Amino acid sequence: MQNASNPNPQMQRPPLDLSTAEDVLCEECGNNTFSEVIVIKKVSAIMSPTGQEVMAPIKTFQCAKCNHLNEQFVPKVDEIGG
Ligand SMILES: [Zn+2]
Repeated sequence: MQNASNPNPQMQRPPLDLSTAEDVLCEECGNNTFSEVIVIKKVSAIMSPTGQEVMAPIKTFQCAKCNHLNEQFVPKVDEIGG
């Protein structure tokens, strides 16, 4: 039993050790730097719950070198709204 009286155990987490973390690499060119970009999903009026066309901006990342969007960074349509 350790720190049983600590009301906030999450504050005691050690800092992330990024020295052992893997870089995410571009699937296309292997580059390891990315730029923040916005994908905009357009929901047609027919599909929209409000009956009006809706623009849904989603923040994601693209390769800073070749602008490729990794599969893991492609926004899933299922995550919109909900
Ligand atoms: Zn790339």
